[in-house]
Amino acid sequence: MGLSAGCAEVSYPPDIDDAERERLVQTIKDWGIAHGLAVRPPPAVIASDADPQGILATNAPVTLFPSPFPKSSFEEAKAVQTAYNKLYADVSRDEAFLGQIVQEVSGDDFISQLWHVHQRVKAEGYVQKLSLGLFRSDYMVHQDSTDPTKAPQIKQVEFNTIASSFGGLSSKTCELHRFLASTEYPQLKQSNANHGYDLPENDSAKGLAAGIKAAHDAYGDSALGHQRCVLFLVQGGERNVFDQRHLEYALQSLSPGLLVFRLPFAEILQRTSIAQTDRRQLLYKSPTNPDKVFEVSVVYLRAGYGPGDYPTPADWDARYQIERSNAIKCPTVLTQLAGAKKVQQVLATPVTQSQPSELHRFVPDDSGASKQIRNTFTHIYPLDDSEAGQQARKLALDPKECLKYVLKPQREGGGNNYYKAKIPAHLNSVPEESWKSYILMELITPPPVANIILRNGSLEQGGVICELGIYGTCVWDQGTGDVVHNAEAGYLLRTKGDQSEEGGVAAGFGCMDSCTLV
Ligand code: ADP
Ligand code: MG
Ligand code: MG
Repeated sequence: MGLSAGCAEVSYPPDIDDAERERLVQTIKDWGIAHGLAVRPPPAVIASDADPQGILATNAPVTLFPSPFPKSSFEEAKAVQTAYNKLYADVSRDEAFLGQIVQEVSGDDFISQLWHVHQRVKAEGYVQKLSLGLFRSDYMVHQDSTDPTKAPQIKQVEFNTIASSFGGLSSKTCELHRFLASTEYPQLKQSNANHGYDLPENDSAKGLAAGIKAAHDAYGDSALGHQRCVLFLVQGGERNVFDQRHLEYALQSLSPGLLVFRLPFAEILQRTSIAQTDRRQLLYKSPTNPDKVFEVSVVYLRAGYGPGDYPTPADWDARYQIERSNAIKCPTVLTQLAGAKKVQQVLATPVTQSQPSELHRFVPDDSGASKQIRNTFTHIYPLDDSEAGQQARKLALDPKECLKYVLKPQREGGGNNYYKAKIPAHLNSVPEESWKSYILMELITPPPVANIILRNGSLEQGGVICELGIYGTCVWDQGTGDVVHNAEAGYLLRTKGDQSEEGGVAAGFGCMDSCTLV
């Protein structure tokens, strides 16, 4: 995929000649491997038998330069994060509200199955009151294309409550651009390369690890006298393993001696069990030392966010085993459900003229937090048979109107949405009863930015679209709502070619980037 060449008037990135470019690329390639800004090789390499021992790693795709990002928008997004953490903690505690959401998207089997896990555990009683959220609120800068003099506004794309990734690689990318700004950029012939970068600090790996540590510390000692450990539940064949490892290493440097085990989601029932006690401690048997049993304080899910991780009924039993245990879950099933796109729509959609939205259920309308949060909302509509839903259906099916929207099902992980002209065709291809499990969202249109992406050793230069993610960590009591820990935890900038609709780095469309504030 090449980038569009429509940004000739933008003097960024610096105009560099072939020799400078080659040198910069070589520096980035080496720095990336030396510092773990890397991923495992793609499936084609594995399939070709070129890596039978599983020892190869390759550069994660990155921009050669940090992308300019409006400082006011960046600061606004960071400032609202702790309010968002508290909001989503409270949403996850509101079982009646979530039950209503599940009802409203009842055509979605995956959401119904998650809800079923919650109901099974509720029937026997939850033993662990504390929950851990490692969240990421994603934004784009919206620039009114009809009035470029209007100030850019930060608008939320989505709020992630499960497997919010790239915190590990993001701090490394910021470090890379800082390194280049002090060593390589000043050497470029075009002196505009040295026009004063404003590169904000970013310790997302440490910030997320601090969230896990807060939960681990709050768990308390093992009443059974076992050594405690943290479990990372992962997907088999994960390419983005170094991103996860950076979190693990950051956690171990915050809590020296703390053991972290990586467990494929498919092996939960084989390697874990529930103690026969009232507390239902989660026990983990290490494959290398089967006689030794550990007590799991925190389970961090980097898997289980989509139907693909549950190919058999046993995989649902595995999720149930985790959920009913005493381990602190990141996330619980309820917290995962709180991240459903339907929740975001319900929080953002006005109910009546006088009542802005269901947000008031969680955050008082006249509070500063409510205003801050509402400022980040863009228009999102239901596709149900309510009046608002009927109107949205008309927009979605209209060949001209639909060009302003993206249609989203209740899915995570990228690659699931339908854009613009593809919306009517998709809706017409599925039964009308299932339309209510989608939401329709106005497209956010960022101002033009240009950059150069290094992906698989090749360069792509041209117009790019940047998506900012702000990480947040929260530990709360699911019963009382008491908050044990609530912090903003750094940022992610993901960038994609402006001709691409999806921006997931892992899905192969986007790349890692960092902000230079303007
Ligand atoms: P997922 O949970 O699969 O990541 P997202 O809601 O983040 O789903 O959508 C995936 C991608 O689609 C985003 O990263 C972004 O690039 C694009 N996208 C989503 N919503 C919008 C929007 N309202 N305007 C512009 N692009 C969007
Ligand atoms: Mg998501
Ligand atoms: Mg997303």
